[in-house]
This record gives sequence, structure tokens and C-alpha cells, in this order.
Amino acid sequence: MSLLGAIEVPRKILLGTVRIARGLTQSELSRRSGVSQALLSKLESGVVPVDPERLAVLAAALDVPVDLLTVASDEIGASSYVFHRKRSTLPVSKANQLRAELDLTHLQVDGIVGDRSPKLQLPRRPLPEDGFDSPEDIAKEIRQALGIGEGPMGRLVQALEGAGVVVVSRPLGSTKIDAMVSWPDGRRPVVLLGDHAPADRQRFTLAHEMAHAVMHQIPTEDQETEADRFASEFLMPARTIRAQLDGLSVPKLARLKPVWGVSMAALLRRGRDLGVTSEAQYRSLNIELSRAGYRTNEPVEIPRESPTMLDAVINERLTAGESIADIAASARMTAREFTELYMGGDA
Ligand SMILES: [Zn+2]
Repeated sequence: MSLLGAIEVPRKILLGTVRIARGLTQSELSRRSGVSQALLSKLESGVVPVDPERLAVLAAALDVPVDLLTVASDEIGASSYVFHRKRSTLPVSKANQLRAELDLTHLQVDGIVGDRSPKLQLPRRPLPEDGFDSPEDIAKEIRQALGIGEGPMGRLVQALEGAGVVVVSRPLGSTKIDAMVSWPDGRRPVVLLGDHAPADRQRFTLAHEMAHAVMHQIPTEDQETEADRFASEFLMPARTIRAQLDGLSVPKLARLKPVWGVSMAALLRRGRDLGVTSEAQYRSLNIELSRAGYRTNEPVEIPRESPTMLDAVINERLTAGESIADIAASARMTAREFTELYMGGDA
């Protein structure tokens, strides 16, 4: 007979995730809440159960409803893989914070949307190790699954939302990261999309993130290149675009940019990758783009795409008579934070 059998192992609560999402260290939360760091550490790892009084104190210090802290930490698919597209090295603490924020976003979205969102139509298609299917093959397949023809991709955000992917656009607090996605088993993919990048880059980023979600349940050596290859084919299908890339020039790149909704740089790379543009042409056009200052600041603005699914659901619930407080509570958020993050700040 074991003595351990009599001890109930306390459930691990969401405390650590919420603290990290708030950008706080354990010692900062300890100062704020008056709960010792040693105890915080035990509560976060689930070694010690939390009592209702401390739970209330911690929730107040973190400015979240008590309800959020009582969620079991394994409820949000801790095993899900998170990818992010970095422009340069993002500090680890910032990456962890965004990861925690994305975990909480899954909970929030589930609470807000319930079963009101379109059914998930995006299949997982792990990239086979034998190379039998290439990222381009999978990109074609996903276009088909989403009912997109072979022409230019119209509104990408809309297409993804229609397929049950949740896109949340918000400031990510760093220009070093454009987007982050996670797709835990049995849930829908959620993308956090930064709002600082120009629309053409944002679209490419989104396609790149979807590539990870679809192909990379397990990280691979070449995952970044593979995701870029998927994104290129997804946004610029070889079959349709090849002829249009013939005889590229800077004015022609500027003309094609709004048609395909991708940057001039991406179009030029596509020309080279498809063998339509020679290495020499590619180099000389790149020099031209540099001289014109277009490497850092491209002309021709693409209209920015905004997600609409969450707004529509929130409006539907408000119209049906629910209050902002009700919806916030279902998302396990304070009304203030809910308004700020999901209603553009105006209540
Ligand atoms: Zn990536």
C-alpha cells in the first residue's frame, strides 16, 4: 500500500501562462501580489494547490477574472507547436510572451465563437520525408480544398476565415515578428497577425504561417524554405503566373504587384525561381530596385486586409441581447481587456 495513493495531486492551473502573457517575471508578480516567489513557483508547476483567497489576490494582480486562473493548463493543448516569422532575432522572453498570449487567444476565441464559426476545412498535410509531395504540391492541394481557382488570390484573410481559420490582427509589441500561428489537435488554427507590416508582406507572412500549420506538425531542418515555397505557389501559382513574368522590368513589377497582392521583390524572386528571369536579369533588376529605394520602401500600396469573423460573431451576440460583460466573461476576460483587444478599444 502506498501513502501517495491518498494524496490528490493538484491540478496545474494556467497561472504561469497568464503571468508570461502579461510580460511579468515571477518576482514581479510576487511584488505585485504579495505572494512569495517560492510559493508562486510551486503554484505554477502544480506542486501545491491554490487556495481561493490567493487565487483572488493573484487574479487581481494580473487583472484577469478568477475564472481564467482555474483553467487546467493542459486544456489549451500545451503540446501544440508554435511558429513565428522573425525579421531578426526576437528576444526569447518576447517570444515566450507571444506564445503565452497565443495560448490565451485560443481560449478567448473558443469562448467568444463557440460553434458559431465556419467549419474547419483546412486539412493537415504533413510534408512527407521521401519528398514525394513538394511544398508546391501541397499548396496546390490547399488552394483546391479552399475552393480557390488558379488565378490571383483575392482576399486571403477572408479565404482563410471562410475555411475556419481564426485570424486575430493586433499589435504584437515588436516589429521583429510579423505573425505567429498554432494549431493544437482538435482545435482550429489561430493566427496572431501583427499590424505593422505593409499589406503585401502581411499576405505573404500569412501564407507562410499557414504553410507551417498545414505541413509542419514536427519541425524540420528546412521548414523556413519549405514554408516560403508553399507561400510562393499559394499566392503565385506557377501555371498562371509564369507567362506574366516574362520580360520583367521595374514598371512591370509595379503593375503586377496589385494584381497578385505580393511585393515586387516576391514577384522578382518568383520569376527567378521559375526560371523565367535569368540570374543576370534578377541581379540587375535588384540593383535597380535598390537604387530607387524600393528595397526598403516599395511603391504601389496594396489594400490592407482585416479579419471580420470575430467582429461578426460579437455583433451577432450583441444583437441577440448579450452584453459586452457577458461576452467578455465567456472569453474569460475583463470587459476592459475584451473591449481593447476585440472591439478596437471602443465599448
Ligand atoms: Zn516560418
